[in-house]
Amino acid sequence: MIRTDDYIRQIFLKPLGAQVEARGWVKTRRDSKGIHFIQLNDGSSFQDLQVVIESGAVPEAALAAATTGACVCVSGELIASPGSGQSVELKARGLEVYGPADPATYPLQKKGHTMEFLREIAHLRVRSNTFGAVFRVRNALCFAIHKFFQERGFVYVNTPLITGSDAEGAGAMFRVTTLDLTKPANDAADFFGRPTFLAVSGQLEAEIFALAFTNVYTFGPTFRAENSNTPRHLAEFWMIEPEMAFCDLDGNRQLAEEFLKYIIAWVLDHCRADLEFFNKRIDNTVLATLEHVASSAFEHVTYTEAVRVLEKSGRNWEFPVHWGADLQSEHERFLTEEVFKKPVIVTDYPAEIKAFYMRLNEDGKTVRAMDVLAPRIGEIIGGSQREERHDVLLEKIRAKGLHETDYKWYLDLRKYGSAPHAGFGLGLERMMMYLTGMKNIRDVIPFPRTPGSAEF
Ligand code: ATP
Ligand code: MN
Repeated sequence: MIRTDDYIRQIFLKPLGAQVEARGWVKTRRDSKGIHFIQLNDGSSFQDLQVVIESGAVPEAALAAATTGACVCVSGELIASPGSGQSVELKARGLEVYGPADPATYPLQKKGHTMEFLREIAHLRVRSNTFGAVFRVRNALCFAIHKFFQERGFVYVNTPLITGSDAEGAGAMFRVTTLDLTKPANDAADFFGRPTFLAVSGQLEAEIFALAFTNVYTFGPTFRAENSNTPRHLAEFWMIEPEMAFCDLDGNRQLAEEFLKYIIAWVLDHCRADLEFFNKRIDNTVLATLEHVASSAFEHVTYTEAVRVLEKSGRNWEFPVHWGADLQSEHERFLTEEVFKKPVIVTDYPAEIKAFYMRLNEDGKTVRAMDVLAPRIGEIIGGSQREERHDVLLEKIRAKGLHETDYKWYLDLRKYGSAPHAGFGLGLERMMMYLTGMKNIRDVIPFPRTPGSAEF
């Protein structure tokens, strides 16, 4: 029988005197004369359930086996807790051990493990305070994302993970093949009869759907073989990509701001205990920042204005700033953390440094691009109004040295019932870093894939 009504989170809400059964994993255990304390957690709440076992109340063998890491079921009565740190506790009458955990070898001991060590035990780190909080927040965030779009009538669309177009230029791609790699390559003999790759984005396909369903979004994994070993890049990460017909850059910007505020407010409302933990242990600015962002207007500057601010800053940049150069992380962080002290939306970048599909401005030099930059993280959203004019798009494809045959269907969209449209991509893990204050993107995804590492 599947049980969904007696999570520890729900047990906390029961009245004193209630007879309950609690199941979970022993986080810590403490013994003193004649009395034993177990902190029990089943993942449903940040707060552990304190179990009190008086000597003789439960079988000796079960008590001996209920050590840190063991999986147990405790039955007993909910009583007021005299100790500090919790208002109720479970006074045990019965104890059953489903699975013991050898204390001599169980790697997740009390505390003080480094994040690096915990990554090596990704199968067990989920039982720790930190990762319990991370993955509860991640779950709430994903729910809020769907809720936001569904409430606004956006249609959820699943774009392919295996793609034939190495088109978008968003990043280096992983090849998908069944070819014998010890033999000379023969694309025609490959599984799909052509070279295929893991998708770097679902945007181009989402555009197909926006031009039939008006407002759509994707939410799925994307892959980039970029060999950038940074704390902000994964080889496999999740992206949310709304795409809206009849929408321009201003509408895109408004949606991005409304969206970020909504999901932040949702997590503030639904994951309070987890966020308080992050605020106490990981980054003591998290709560204040989120509350501030949820309630204040984002800043908007054009790329040209941003470059002027950076040039005038008098800073010694590692990457020199000049009109035409892409903004680097150091510039993005300076703008959000020191100049504006809140999220900043930068728009109208030089065409040269942005993708071919972004709509060309009247000046012929800049495109209707927007990046949303967040303090601590830098770029969190990248988006644009798309080029909906067939001939302008074709010209751009040629000018960028791309093959127009590869974009036949994409150009068709501009030939048959084209419409102004816009969209953006939010990296789920970047958002997670923002919400939790976690410093390394490897620690906000269950099983990180990075250069040289694909454990689990
Ligand atoms: P960056 O300059 O940070 O590498 P990008 O310009 O390559 O980002 P886009 O192609 O615009 O990013 O992708 C949209 C969003 O996906 C980004 O704003 C970011 O939130 C996220 N993102 C991009 N690359 C990665 C990655 N390798 N790992 C995790 N998230 C990523
Ligand atoms: Mn990138």
